[in-house]
Amino acid sequence: MRRRSMDVWPVWIALLVGAVLVLYALDLGENELQPKITLSADHIRPGEFFLLQVDPLASDLSLQIACPFLDEEPRFFRYGQGVVALIPVDYRTRPGDYGLEAEIVRGGQIVHRLEQGVTVSARDFAIQKLYVSAELLSHRDETMWAEDRVHTDAARARSNSDPLWEGLFQPALTGRITTQFGQIRLINDQESGRHSGLDIAAPRGTEVAASNNGEVVLARFLHVTGNTVILDHGWNLFSSYSHLDRIEVRVGQAVVKDQTIGTVGSTGFSTGPHLHWAVSIGTTFVDPEFVLGEALPWSSWMEQEDVAQR
Ligand SMILES: [Zn+2]
Repeated sequence: MRRRSMDVWPVWIALLVGAVLVLYALDLGENELQPKITLSADHIRPGEFFLLQVDPLASDLSLQIACPFLDEEPRFFRYGQGVVALIPVDYRTRPGDYGLEAEIVRGGQIVHRLEQGVTVSARDFAIQKLYVSAELLSHRDETMWAEDRVHTDAARARSNSDPLWEGLFQPALTGRITTQFGQIRLINDQESGRHSGLDIAAPRGTEVAASNNGEVVLARFLHVTGNTVILDHGWNLFSSYSHLDRIEVRVGQAVVKDQTIGTVGSTGFSTGPHLHWAVSIGTTFVDPEFVLGEALPWSSWMEQEDVAQR
């Protein structure tokens, strides 16, 4: 009897050690799955965008983001052990403190809930009055907008999962800026929405260049924006070039920064030769001047990431 219980001791010790190791491993697993949410900026202006990163994020987890200024579902792309998304702040967003909530879901169950604060600062947009002929105004009715949107939405329905851009963006054209981004427009004294891009005036035939490397996802005539080119730069970031006289690229073509994609014209709803240059995250327009500056959300963030991953 005594001899028998002596024999059992090593078994108990082995079981105990085993149980401790299993608990330790489970705990490690929990720690590994604990995702963190990081934003590239906590202060932002209407019409700008930031980069949201959730890391790590196991591939069997899905992510839902809720934020009052989001007009459309963010698109997430795998990056390192987690995911990233560019988040636009629509130009109509009122200044204030906002909470960005992330729910991380596995098999229909919320496994993590994260929150980050973002402050949207005030920004004034100018008012522009425009008087045009009834004939020209007929290029701008709702049916035509809707027909155009079928094509532009389809072009922006997917995006390259890797960033195609390199370094800073550059203006598509040098010239006099005639209408700023976000400007409030009165056409024949009727309020007519906001200006979604930058208007740059230049003589007809002036070459228009790609702002950065990308893939052509639309190259055709549209009622309102005339001859139009849309480039996908990856990660849901697009640029568009409108009222072109000539289009010099095809859908599916890869273009490099500074490559000529067309020439300045006055096609569609336009009062004279100019380029309407717009930048969007998905279908939400952002300030083109923001992509020209050093303040781009990824410039400092990616340098840190590169260092961390080396
Ligand atoms: Zn314009």
